[in-house]
Amino acid sequence: MSQVVSLHPWKRPQHLDSANNQLLIDGVNAIDLVERYGSPLFVYSAAKLRDNARDILNNFRRVHGRTRVCFASKACANLAVLKLFKDCGLDLEVNSGGEFYKAQLAGFAPAQMVFNGVAKQVGELREVIGAGIKAINVDSLSELARILAVAGELGRQARVSLRIIPEIQGGAAAGWQTGTSTSKFGMTAAEQVEAIELILAQPGALKLVGVHAHIGTQITDIGVYQAEANFLIDYVRQVAERLPYPLEHVNLGGGFPKNYSSAEENFASVAPHYCANYRTEIDFARLAEHLIKPMAQALGEQIELIVEPGRSMVSDGAILLSRIEAHKERQGRPVFYLDAGYSVLFDLYNGWYFHMLNASRADDHDTRHCRMAGPLCDSSDTYYDIEGEGAVADLIAEEPRLAEHRAVLERVLVHQPNLRELPAATAMGDVIALLDVGAYALEMMSQYCGRQSAAAVLVDLRQGSRLIRRRGEYRDLLAHDLD
Ligand SMILES: *Cc1c(COP(=O)(O)O)cnc(C)c1O
Repeated sequence: MSQVVSLHPWKRPQHLDSANNQLLIDGVNAIDLVERYGSPLFVYSAAKLRDNARDILNNFRRVHGRTRVCFASKACANLAVLKLFKDCGLDLEVNSGGEFYKAQLAGFAPAQMVFNGVAKQVGELREVIGAGIKAINVDSLSELARILAVAGELGRQARVSLRIIPEIQGGAAAGWQTGTSTSKFGMTAAEQVEAIELILAQPGALKLVGVHAHIGTQITDIGVYQAEANFLIDYVRQVAERLPYPLEHVNLGGGFPKNYSSAEENFASVAPHYCANYRTEIDFARLAEHLIKPMAQALGEQIELIVEPGRSMVSDGAILLSRIEAHKERQGRPVFYLDAGYSVLFDLYNGWYFHMLNASRADDHDTRHCRMAGPLCDSSDTYYDIEGEGAVADLIAEEPRLAEHRAVLERVLVHQPNLRELPAATAMGDVIALLDVGAYALEMMSQYCGRQSAAAVLVDLRQGSRLIRRRGEYRDLLAHDLD
């Protein structure tokens, strides 16, 4: 049988397709959406979000019935998205009083929420303990002392879980690793011994309900999850021996990966070193097998297993539509300027890769290599890494022998592909679609350079499409200023 290589590998059955050479999202024409709601525009797919929720719940509960999926709301705390996930049967992870507030407005009960954070404030602790939150994941001894004081003041028992440091490297880059003592998160083994002693000495005010670990984001190595499971199994057994009551749950955190492109061919023009971070074979079925199953087998049916997926629930649930507002030729190549830069898509600033296609010419072949940039008055607002490219050039100028290691230097220092492939006819006014932008986007927008935040629409075949975030306006720029 011959392998058929699709010319348009970004197409995803029932979700991303084309008609009349224009992009369709769940059957809705992307260009029509931009004409109706303006650009830049986030388009969330209710069907895709529901699919993701169903997929993780089915796979995880199939191997362990007492699994609770607490969506990490910092990945997307839009009210409509939170409500949709609540209706799908998800629980919630929050990491601030603000997220706790939004979650309650979306209809989540405190008893279905867990609270994370490294610097929880007294006011936040009062709110969550007063409301009877399911668990506070304690990050330090200083925090535990605060919780004890607040619980005493309110005359309530606080339900706490300890964030441990499993000393496991995970996450696509150093800044995205959260499971080692070089990161800022969690408590050392010695600190935990002290924490458990304090908890047991204060049974009226504190109850140890669980242990918690979270080791990074976009972890594409299944071995990392196996190591995490092994570590937690040992650790939970040790803790259980010291407790006069059974531990209610083990929280495995999030960090589950998603593909940032639908197929390998999408990376044809992209330096190969991106593929490792942005392509993964790990899906919820494999995680069920390698993470949930060993935990359940070792710890038994009674234990509740909590996971806190953020990115993997929403990243492929949205695309960003952005118009080309300007065009130049440089070094014999076109440079196109979009109306969305890092003030709309903050992860661009971190060098994150998002696949692009021309929504106005969706069926054209991508034959033209282009430089792509955002609109901000900042040289790093580009869909290529000018600083990384400059650093490699500087190093080689400084030490010419490094030229033979150019590929290694680029792998470490350059965080974006230098060129994007788009149709030859790409022109002013075309709408470019950036895929897989659903995570860490809406909440990270800023008004830098006096720009207005983008609107978001939810395409929902069941309940009808609607705006779920209004576009920023000039008057929003004044919302916080006092003169
Ligand atoms: C951010 C975060 C998550 C979610 O991480 P993803 O990589 O988006 O899945 C889960 N748990 C904690 C404690 C977090 O800080």
